[in-house]
Amino acid sequence: MRALRLHGDRDLRLEEMENPPHPGPGEVQVRVHAVGLNHIDVWGFRGMAFAKRKMPLVVGAEAAGAVVAIGEDVTHVDVGDKVALYGARTCGICRACVEGRDNLCENVGGIMGFHVDGFACDFVNMPQRLVVKVPDEVSFEDAACAPIAFGTVQHMLFDNARLEPGESVLVHAGGSGIGTAAIKMAKAIGCTVYTTVGDDEKGEKAKALGADHVINYRNERFEGEVRRLTKRKGVDVVFEHVGADTWNGSLLCLKRGGRLVTCGSTSGVSTTMNLMQLFQQQYRIFGSFGCSMRNIRESLDKMASGLTPVIDTVFPLEHFAQGLERLESRKVFGKILVRF
Ligand SMILES: [Zn+2]
Repeated sequence: MRALRLHGDRDLRLEEMENPPHPGPGEVQVRVHAVGLNHIDVWGFRGMAFAKRKMPLVVGAEAAGAVVAIGEDVTHVDVGDKVALYGARTCGICRACVEGRDNLCENVGGIMGFHVDGFACDFVNMPQRLVVKVPDEVSFEDAACAPIAFGTVQHMLFDNARLEPGESVLVHAGGSGIGTAAIKMAKAIGCTVYTTVGDDEKGEKAKALGADHVINYRNERFEGEVRRLTKRKGVDVVFEHVGADTWNGSLLCLKRGGRLVTCGSTSGVSTTMNLMQLFQQQYRIFGSFGCSMRNIRESLDKMASGLTPVIDTVFPLEHFAQGLERLESRKVFGKILVRF
C-alpha cells in the first residue's frame, strides 16, 4: 500500500509499505479515503524537539474511510460502512475511556500522525471503539473533518463553554478550519457572532457564513472593536486558539462572568495575566483538547442535517506537503483535505 511518511523535519516521502495484517479481535480494517489537515500536522512537519516519536512516521491525524475487513467480536460496524477515525491511541480501559471521554484518557499511547503512525496510508487497522459510523448522506471529505476540527469545536463550545442560544461569542481567526466551524455552529443555535480575520476578503467570506460582525485585526484592535460593538458590555464567550498575541485582549472582550475556551496557541505559548482581573471579573477559563467519542457523533449528525464543513482545498495524496504549506501560510479559508 501507499503511505506518506515523515523522515525528518519537512521531509515527507510517498512510499510503498506492507499492508496491515487481517484485523485482530475487536479490530477493523479501514480503507482511508480522506485525511483532514490540522495545525498539529504543521507542528509535526516542522519538527518538535520535545515530542517523543520514532521516524519514519506515517502522518495524518484526522480521517474517514470505509471498513474493508473486520476481526472477531466486532459488533458495531460492518464491511462497507463509512467511518470516521479517532486519532489518538487511547487505552479503552481507564474510567475516562469507558465513559467515552477518550480525550481524558489516563494512559494515552500517543496522537496518531504525530507520536505514532497515522492515517495517510491506504489501509489502517483500528480498534472498533475508535471508529464512528458516518451517516450515508455525509461525504468522506466532510466526515474527515469530524474527529478533530468539528469534534474539537463541539467540545469547546458546548461541553466546556456551555454556549447557549442567544448568547454572544467572539471567534478568533474566523477563516481557520475550526474558526469556520465555530461560526457555523454558533449561528445555528442563534448566537451573535463576532469574528476576527486578517484580510477583508476573508471578512466577506466570514460574513457569508453568518458572522454578524467581522473585525480585521490588522486594521483595528479587536478588543476595542468588540467593546465598542457590545456597548462596553463584552461577550459571553471567547473562542481562543491564537494564544499569546490575543490572550489579554480576549479577556478584555469578556463580560463579567464570561467564559473563555482555548484549544491552541499558534502565536506563542506563554503570556502574563492580571489575576485581579480574573477573579474580580469572575472569568471562567477552559483548556480544551480533542473531543469525546460523543462529540464526533454529534458532529456527524450536524453534517447530516446540513451544517457541513467549509472546505478550502482538496489535494491529492502526493501533494500533502503542499497542503501543509498552504495551512502554514494562513491564506486558507476553511479546511484543507487530502483525498486518496
Ligand atoms: Zn484510557
